[in-house]
Amino acid sequence: MAKIFINPGHGPSSTGGAFDPGAVGPTGLREADVNLKIGQLLNSKIGSLCTTKLYQDANLTMICNESNRWMADWFVSIHGNAAAASSAHGLETFCYLFGGQGQRLANSVQTQLVKLLGRADRGVKEGNFQVLRNTNAPAILPEIGFISNPQEEALMRGIEWQETAAEALAIGISDYIGLGYKPSATAVPEPPPVLPPDLGEGAMENLVVWYGEADASTARYLMTKLGCPGMPFSQWSANTTPAKTVYKVGGAAAAGTVLLAGSTQYETARVVLDWIAKN
Ligand SMILES: [Zn+2]
Repeated sequence: MAKIFINPGHGPSSTGGAFDPGAVGPTGLREADVNLKIGQLLNSKIGSLCTTKLYQDANLTMICNESNRWMADWFVSIHGNAAAASSAHGLETFCYLFGGQGQRLANSVQTQLVKLLGRADRGVKEGNFQVLRNTNAPAILPEIGFISNPQEEALMRGIEWQETAAEALAIGISDYIGLGYKPSATAVPEPPPVLPPDLGEGAMENLVVWYGEADASTARYLMTKLGCPGMPFSQWSANTTPAKTVYKVGGAAAAGTVLLAGSTQYETARVVLDWIAKN
């Protein structure tokens, strides 16, 4: 069985140093927490198909030592990005040097991240980072969104983003290494809509929520057709904004919503247009 070392970036120090939050978003989301959640979800997805070790440490030397001592076959360090310009956004995956297995694994993972998360593709890049340079296994470091970008911070806070990111990592790793992972996100049947328990008098008839900004224009078209309001899914809660029917445009199924989504923003637009034509 392949041995895959999963390192959610930053976090607590095993050597007595301070907790390293990583980058912190404009509303206080800590990169270390998002990295850990995605790492745990990835671990649960591929853990039965290979041998995994989930290890978070603020001390970079310890990370490299642990991976090398454990004799990992593959090394994945999960991070979120940050930049001075709040407009910076998108997805990128680093390997140490081009031309080896690290780059090929990075290509496979980056392809799936862009496909499933639907954010801008910043490509695969070389990065002279300690955890890529000093690990013996082919190593990659995906940067799964810019936590410094308010819009991506909001997405990264959501369990749906974290789940989809883990799914993309699982598929990308499996595609290259050959783990035989069976994709789950798009194969999961849509659960029946669960209405919020206490729909008050004031509950509106319909509400449209959209998953990512890429789905917003499709959502607005549906709002016009239904004559109802809408909001980003990351800001919606059944308790604060109850509606008899909540249509979710894009992303994966979510409790309390009717999902209208394909595997890309374009397929989602097609699904919505077809739905409008039939209703
Ligand atoms: Zn980081």
